[in-house]
Amino acid sequence: MSGFRDQENFDDKIGEVRPIVMNTCNFAKGADATLLTFDDARTLFHEFGHALHGLLSDVRYPYVSGTSVPRDFVELPSQLFEHWLATPEVLGEFAIHYRTGRAMPEALIERLLAAETFNQGFATVEYVSSALVDLEMHLLTGAEGFDPTGFEAEVLSRIGMPAEIVMRHRIPHFQHVFAGDGYSAGYYSYMWSEVMDADAFDAFREAGDPFDAATAARLAEHVYAAGGRQDPADAYVAFRGRMPEVGPLLKGRGLAAEDAA
Ligand SMILES: [Zn+2]
Repeated sequence: MSGFRDQENFDDKIGEVRPIVMNTCNFAKGADATLLTFDDARTLFHEFGHALHGLLSDVRYPYVSGTSVPRDFVELPSQLFEHWLATPEVLGEFAIHYRTGRAMPEALIERLLAAETFNQGFATVEYVSSALVDLEMHLLTGAEGFDPTGFEAEVLSRIGMPAEIVMRHRIPHFQHVFAGDGYSAGYYSYMWSEVMDADAFDAFREAGDPFDAATAARLAEHVYAAGGRQDPADAYVAFRGRMPEVGPLLKGRGLAAEDAA
């Protein structure tokens, strides 16, 4: 998402400044009858979630407008929006064959969704191990005599890392840690955003409808329109009634205890 102008309402003489937002998606042409792959459709929804964050902004100060929120919170509106892609209502209307006009067959949708949890145990462990090593590294008080290989081995043994899985990013090529200050000790934030988006979408499941109007209105008011006008924790609690819980993420990745039964 690119923002050309942020929403604001700071100068009473000028009044409301409306946002100008653009999404340009450079998607490859799909093979055969597929005009847009499911992954690309997900990216489209992701970026549209960012766009909505900018477009629905309703704040006074430009400094806290739209997507001007902390790094983990800025991925909530985008990652959350991805969840609507896989709803029967959206697929039924948009995932139609470009020649026959027929909707995607039920069996294909089921296979697509069933494949979503493939290899998630591996993916989760390789990611979390890197995130934990990153955090541990930033707890060090000095770099004198630092031995990356020994440090890595010590942390991995402490967290009980399975021998069969490697870290997603080992220390020597862990760009997030060294490229700048933005992501140092912050690699965990991708999955923390996922905890939030899974938990937030679960509010709609609890309401019994992915398009529940009351839940959507709370989401629009406290998240999509709120920019950085309040602490993200307060914004989330105002929407959800409590802080995010990890259950929906585990369920989404097929890792909840009930899935193993
Ligand atoms: Zn994003």
